[in-house]
Amino acid sequence: EPQISSSMIQNTIDQAYIKFKSMEDGENASYIPYLSKADSKLYGIAIVTVDGKIFKKGNVEYKFPVESVAKIFTLASVIQKKGTDTVLRKIGVNATGLPFNSVLSIELNNDKLGGGPPTGNPLVNAGAIATASLVEGQTLEKKWKSVLDTASAFAGHPLHLNEDVYQSEMANNQHNQAIAVLLKSYNALYADPSETVDLYTRECSYEVNALDLAIMGATLANGGTNPLSHVPVVNAATSAHVLAVMATAGLYNTSGEWLFKVGLPGKSGVGGGIVAVVPGKMAIGVYSSHLDAAGNSVRGQLALQFISEALGINIFSAK
Ligand code: GLU
Repeated sequence: EPQISSSMIQNTIDQAYIKFKSMEDGENASYIPYLSKADSKLYGIAIVTVDGKIFKKGNVEYKFPVESVAKIFTLASVIQKKGTDTVLRKIGVNATGLPFNSVLSIELNNDKLGGGPPTGNPLVNAGAIATASLVEGQTLEKKWKSVLDTASAFAGHPLHLNEDVYQSEMANNQHNQAIAVLLKSYNALYADPSETVDLYTRECSYEVNALDLAIMGATLANGGTNPLSHVPVVNAATSAHVLAVMATAGLYNTSGEWLFKVGLPGKSGVGGGIVAVVPGKMAIGVYSSHLDAAGNSVRGQLALQFISEALGINIFSAK
């Protein structure tokens, strides 16, 4: 298999940057006040390889709220600590085919209807809130420390809560509270609903930049060991399971289209970040705040499709 040279990687992200820089399609997330004010001109692309090489273009240091991308790192730690059976049985891994914060998916995926657990999967809000309810710890503070420590190990340095984002979301998270209570009614939430939604909201509110996302993704690409710090964060089997869920449900209800076009497990967040992972090779982190109707960064998706094609890294293509 031909090696991808460093100059080819840098040229490709330079091109992806220039190609979509003036593209203004999409809109900032409007339902979280903090995110509605993001500067849509900011755009950054970073790649980190499993042998520790770093490539950057644009605003890769700009910090933004991780939002839903956090779901994959919390999932990784819950799979690692509780095992795959717990995740299969208590959360599920099937696509819901519905918007990420759907309450209808809870009803439609109910066991009684044959669709699997009401939680759907760990990357929609219902499943992610249930995943947060499986985080171990005596108190909310201890659970939060565990979630943030895991994410920080993925990034290779301490990550921090953005207090403004957290407050902004706590004041506007009635919908997620409803999800948690509804899950509880189906015995599909495994801790106190309000405490769990608080934990989940903190999880959405820590800050990352595009380079962090690339490092965190490269840790999954590298079987769970951070390729820069060399610290093992989760094991290889856990990483493979997380990537499988990302391929199934990482880009909300347009995950099928994403996989068809890009051919990589990915995860997006309404903060404007997307991470895409090439198992055994590298990860790509992109930031741009304008989202499509499903909640995925518009430029991020275009850049990643371009990069996947240019570098020939679609996992389904024979080479
Ligand atoms: N905090 C957001 C929510 O739960 C995250 C959504 C996302 O990025 O998909 O609504």
